[in-house]
Amino acid sequence: MRRAAFLSFAALLCLASSSIDAQQVDVRADGNANYTLSARLDPDTRTLTGVGRITWRNRTATPTATLRLHLYWNAWRDLDSTWMREMALEGDTSLAWRPARDRSAIDLTALRLADTTTDLLPRLTFVAPDDGNARDRTLAELALDTPVDPGESIALDVAWTARVPRTFARTGVLDRDYVVAHWFPKIGVLDDRGWRASQFHASTEFFADFGTYDVGLTVPTGWIVGATGIERARDVHDNGTTTHRYRAEDVHDFAWATSPEFIVHERRVDVAADRAIDVRLLIRPEHAPQATRHLEAARDVLVALDRRLGPFPWPQLTIVDPATIVNPRAQGESTGGMEYPMFIMAGTHWSNPWVDDALEDVLAHEITHQYFQSAVATDEVRDAWLDEGVTTWVSDELIDAIWPTRFVAVDRYFGGLVAWRYPQIRWSRPHLGFSLDTYRVEPGWDAPTTETWRQSPRTWAHTNYLRAPLALETLRRTIGDDAMTRAIATFAARGRFRHPGPADFTAAVNDSAGRDMTWLLDATLGRPDTFDYAVDDVVTSEDQAGDRVESTVFLRRLAPGVFPVDVHVTFDDGREVVESWDGAAPWHALRYDEAARVTRVEIDPARVLVLDVHRTNNSWTATPRAADAAHRWTPRWVAWLQHVLLTYGFFV
Ligand SMILES: [Zn+2]
Repeated sequence: MRRAAFLSFAALLCLASSSIDAQQVDVRADGNANYTLSARLDPDTRTLTGVGRITWRNRTATPTATLRLHLYWNAWRDLDSTWMREMALEGDTSLAWRPARDRSAIDLTALRLADTTTDLLPRLTFVAPDDGNARDRTLAELALDTPVDPGESIALDVAWTARVPRTFARTGVLDRDYVVAHWFPKIGVLDDRGWRASQFHASTEFFADFGTYDVGLTVPTGWIVGATGIERARDVHDNGTTTHRYRAEDVHDFAWATSPEFIVHERRVDVAADRAIDVRLLIRPEHAPQATRHLEAARDVLVALDRRLGPFPWPQLTIVDPATIVNPRAQGESTGGMEYPMFIMAGTHWSNPWVDDALEDVLAHEITHQYFQSAVATDEVRDAWLDEGVTTWVSDELIDAIWPTRFVAVDRYFGGLVAWRYPQIRWSRPHLGFSLDTYRVEPGWDAPTTETWRQSPRTWAHTNYLRAPLALETLRRTIGDDAMTRAIATFAARGRFRHPGPADFTAAVNDSAGRDMTWLLDATLGRPDTFDYAVDDVVTSEDQAGDRVESTVFLRRLAPGVFPVDVHVTFDDGREVVESWDGAAPWHALRYDEAARVTRVEIDPARVLVLDVHRTNNSWTATPRAADAAHRWTPRWVAWLQHVLLTYGFFV
């Protein structure tokens, strides 16, 4: 087991490094959205006061007479925002009970053309192109007197104040720990189809153009700061504050965190003979014993990603390990598990057994996001599967390759404080990586390629985080490891510092597979259909002499999804045949007139179609084998029951 896994890891490394075109990964961004920002955090009032200049260049072929600005923090201003309404639809009403002081707001206090005194604020209107919600204030449009011509630039001077919320969507404050993301007026993306700037939705993340950020962050002296970019200077002021000056190039966002309590670790990771990355870890004191585990996992992941996807896009990565949330109602939501360019929020628990992948899983996932979305800047508002699905598939492959035998299933109790291990259930990519069992219970209501913000608020996470990587796993099992590795690397190289879409992913797959796989991507990602193939029955009749058996195998397609499958048939003389079924008709019969009797039938024996929601009906055996299944699942069920009873006993 260990040796086989190691060999496949080594094979992947060779293939990946040979398949990356060095010139393609050497590109830099055509940065057209550049920011010079200064912000001061006042912890006493939890306010942020900012000024800055936004310089934007029109990259399209058409003049534009409007600009669009995201004001994300207005999503948490009141219950009328689209974000809050969608969260209620998602079933979460707890946010409605938060006191007003725990919500947020961002208000522009000045908006002018650079170096002029003309006040543009009266020309700013809130727009709601997605849902027409007149009360939503997360997207604003500015009408210009003079259009910005193709290739021309415009500079705006802005000033704003914002209130930092108790954490919503991984942004906010807990005690004196601040995680500050999408905190400034941010210009939308204009392409040849028009403005691709959306309101802030509960289920979606972000989309922005690349640029350079020069940012000064003023916080109390002595507080630790981590941010996108590299700190260039630090100015200590007489009033007890310090300004940390950061610069980041070729990024499309800038996030930061600050706390007086973070412990800092810095380590240079040599990812290749001529390449190193400076890793900066900011960790909470109660997690301090896990710092080495973070740094070693980050090193292993960075090295593996460099082999597979080419050089890390930037010279530095900051990792923040925030406080563990045990009571979201009192503490706000967790800030852990989120990616921004050059800056990720990781996460662990106070107690984290060595065999629990919680720390490594989130770290591998968020570092992989540095390639998919931070560098390969797909539109997360419309195509979330392209970064979440691809990232989940890649990071679970990494976990399998880097730690092939280390992790086991772990359930957590008492708000996550107590970890219960199941040593007999080893980590496996489909089950613990892609959460196959959760997917089977709820596969999601939408096709992953449906624009993300239009997907059901109740199941979008299943669609993008479970179904999409399982679809990619189905692709891998169809085209093979080599082609899959090339496809992902090709997509990463071609899309670096650009805004690729689903068609670019399909092209990377087809070019890497050497054949047209569009049908597979359409079937698994392009439709909401679920898949369920079953062996319905095997009917046999013997002739009177008893030397011939007529067997009819009835196969059924029980769900709308269509996918070609192999059918493995075994006879009682030991003979085996593999049939192909295109899977299109609602049912299909296989007929045999043989000396031997059919003893076993299995649809998709190689388990290519991991999206099949009922695996148990895929096979038929002349002798039932229920005992095997019971043996496997009973221990976990009994342990779960035991803990339900213990938890109950604790509180009653
Ligand atoms: Zn993600």
